[in-house]
Amino acid sequence: MNADERRCSLILADFLPMAAIATTPNAAKLLLPVCQSMGADLWVAESLREISGTQVYSGSLREHIANIWSQYRGFIFGLATGAVVRLIAPLLRDKSVDPAVIVVDQNGKFVISLCGGHQGGADRLTRAIALSLNATPILTGASNGLGLPAVDLLGVPFGWNKGEGDWTKVAASIARNEPVQVIQEVGSTLWQNHLPEGHPFYFENNEITQSCRTGILPVIPNAPVIPNPTPKARIWISFTQRRFSPDSDLPKVQWHPRVLWLGIGCERGTSKKLIESAILQVCQKYHLALGAIAGIATIDLKADEVGLIEVCREKNWPLKTFSAEVLGKINVPNPSTIVAAEVGTPSVAEAAAICAGLGMTGKMPVLRDWGLRMTGKMPVLQDGTNLLVKKQIFRLEGERGAVTIAVGLSEKEYSDRTGKILLIGTGPGQLEQMTIAAQMAISQADAVVGYSLYIDLISPLLKPGQIVESLPITQEVERAKKAIELADKGLTVAVISSGDSGIYGMAGLVLEELQAHGWDGQVPGVQVFPGITALQAAASLVGAPLMHDFCAVSLSDLLTPWEVIEKRLIAAAEADFVTALYNPKSQTRTEQIAFAQQIFLKYRNPATPVAIVRSAYRETQEITITTLEKLLESSIDMLTIVLIGNSNTRIHGEWMITPRGYKVEGIEYSDL
Ligand code: SAH
Repeated sequence: MNADERRCSLILADFLPMAAIATTPNAAKLLLPVCQSMGADLWVAESLREISGTQVYSGSLREHIANIWSQYRGFIFGLATGAVVRLIAPLLRDKSVDPAVIVVDQNGKFVISLCGGHQGGADRLTRAIALSLNATPILTGASNGLGLPAVDLLGVPFGWNKGEGDWTKVAASIARNEPVQVIQEVGSTLWQNHLPEGHPFYFENNEITQSCRTGILPVIPNAPVIPNPTPKARIWISFTQRRFSPDSDLPKVQWHPRVLWLGIGCERGTSKKLIESAILQVCQKYHLALGAIAGIATIDLKADEVGLIEVCREKNWPLKTFSAEVLGKINVPNPSTIVAAEVGTPSVAEAAAICAGLGMTGKMPVLRDWGLRMTGKMPVLQDGTNLLVKKQIFRLEGERGAVTIAVGLSEKEYSDRTGKILLIGTGPGQLEQMTIAAQMAISQADAVVGYSLYIDLISPLLKPGQIVESLPITQEVERAKKAIELADKGLTVAVISSGDSGIYGMAGLVLEELQAHGWDGQVPGVQVFPGITALQAAASLVGAPLMHDFCAVSLSDLLTPWEVIEKRLIAAAEADFVTALYNPKSQTRTEQIAFAQQIFLKYRNPATPVAIVRSAYRETQEITITTLEKLLESSIDMLTIVLIGNSNTRIHGEWMITPRGYKVEGIEYSDL
C-alpha cells in the first residue's frame, strides 16, 4: 500500500463509484467539498461549468440520470425532493439492486435518506453526509426509529446471504413490535447480544433438521425461560432451504450463513453445466440452501479444472484445494481404492468437504492453524463429524465426465467481506471535541469495541444493530484481541480510545497484536483516526502552556519499567521541556507523582507554574493552577493530567502562558 492509498478512507469506500448532482450554484458549492473528500463525481448543469472540480452534463437531467444510473452505487442529489422522486421513479427496480439515493437541501441543513435505505446503504450514507455537513439526518425507516437492526440487513456484517421470504411483512411485524420468533441454527449470534430492551424477538432453539445429518454444533441462543408468545412472524437463520406455503398466515424470512462446503471430485474436463446441475440436485435432495454454500473444496490436482473454476467465478465462491497427503489422512465413510490408485487419496469429495468444513486452509505450511490440537502428527478424524452429506455421484446425458459431491458443515460462517479496523481517537470527552471523520467512522462500523466509560461518552453516535463490546479499563489487550477477532469475521470494527488512539491508546496495541499474528498490512484493513489528546485538551483550558518545546511522559509503570520513566523525567526536566504527565496516579500507584516532582525540583524553580486538569471536557472537569512546589497538595488521580511549565512559563490571572520563544523576555536559550 502506498501512502496515498493509506490516506484513502476505508469507511465509505463501498459506496464508490458515487455521484452527486447539483443544478444551482449553492448546491454545487455545498456538495463540492463532500464529493472531494469522498472521491465522488459532482455532476453540474452547463450553466455551472465554471465551478472547477465538477463534471458537466448537457441536455436534460432526466436523460443524464438515466444514462449514469447503473454506473454508480450511490447518488447525492442537491435538488428538491419532489424533483428527485420524479427523476428516479422510472429507474427504480428493486430494493435489492437499487443504489443509495439521498437528498441534501440547498442550505445543507437536512440530509434525507430517500431510497435504498437498507440494502442500498442510503441510511448509512445519510448519517455520514449529515455528519460532514453538520446537518440533521432524516431516516424514516421504522426499525431505525425503534433502535432495532433492520431485518434485511441483519446478516450483512457476517456475510450471510438473504434467502426467500416475505421481507416486507416480517419488517412490518417488527415495526409493530409484535412477537417475532427467531430460529437460528448456525451463524454468529453476536447480533442477538446487543438488542435494545423490549425488542420483539424471541429465540427458539432448533436442532439441525432431521433431513440433514445431525450431531453438529447447533447454535443455542439465549433460551427464554417464560413460555413463548404466539409468533406473528418468523426469522429462520439456517443452511436449510425452506419452502414457505403461500397459504400460511405467518410471514417468514430466511437468512443463510455460508457454512456449507461442497467437497467435489470430478473427471478431467467435466463441464460447468454438469457441475452446476450436480450441485443443484444435491441441494434439492437435502433441502440445502444455495445461499448457504461457502465454497468448493477439492484436491490440488483440480486447481486448474476449468469447470470448477468457472462455477466458482460465476458464483463468487472460493475454491479451496488440499493435497492428496492431507486428504488421505481423513477418515471418511466411503473411501475408494480406485480413487486412491488414481490420485493418491482414497477420498476427494468427502475428505475435502470435511477439511474445508473444519476451516483448514488447504496449504501445508499453515496446518498449525487448523484449530485442532496438533501433537506433531496430522489429525485423524475418528468419524467425519462435520460431514453433512456423504458422497453422491452425478452424470448428465450428453455431458462429459462425472462429478462426486459431498457436503461438509463448518462451525463458522465463511464471509467474503474484508474486515476493517478503525482505530479511533474520540478526544477528551465531549462529542464536539471529536473529529467528524472519527464520528463518521463510529457511525459506519458494524461493531464498536472500547472501555465502557468511553463507549458511554460516544453513545449518541451509536446506531441500531451495531455490536457493542465494552470491556473493563484494564483489559486493553483483550480489547485489541476482540477487535481482531471480529475483523477476521469480516466486520468493520471501530476501536475506541479516549484522546488520540496513537497516544497511550489502542492503536499501538492493535497494530502490535496484528503484527504478532503475521498480519500482511492489508487484511484486515486498518485506518487510524486522530483525536485531540489529553495534553492538548488540558492546555486549551488553561491557556497556552505548551507553546514551546514540550514532551509527554506516562507515569504508569505497568507496561514500562520505572527506571526508563525516571530516565525520561530527568531528561525532560534537565532539557527544560514543558512536560505533560499522563497516568500520574491511580489507586494502587501513588508514589510516582511525588518522585516526578522531586526530579523536576532538582532542575526547575519551585514556583514553576503547573496545571492540573481532571476530566477535561467532561461533566466532572476540574482545573487547578498551582506551582511545582505545591503540586502534591491538589488531588490527582487517573483521570488527571499534569502540565509542568518550563523555566519561562508564567501565570497571568487564571491563564498559564509559555512564551513562544525564549528571547521574548530577553533570555537566551544558552542562559538556561
Ligand atoms: N489516549 C489518551 C491517553 C490515554 S492514557 C489521550 O490521547 O489522551 C490515560 C491518561 O490520559 C489518564 O490517566 C490521564 O492522565 C489522561 N487523560 C485522558 N483523558 C483525559 C481528560 N479528559 N482529562 C484529563 N486527563 C485525561
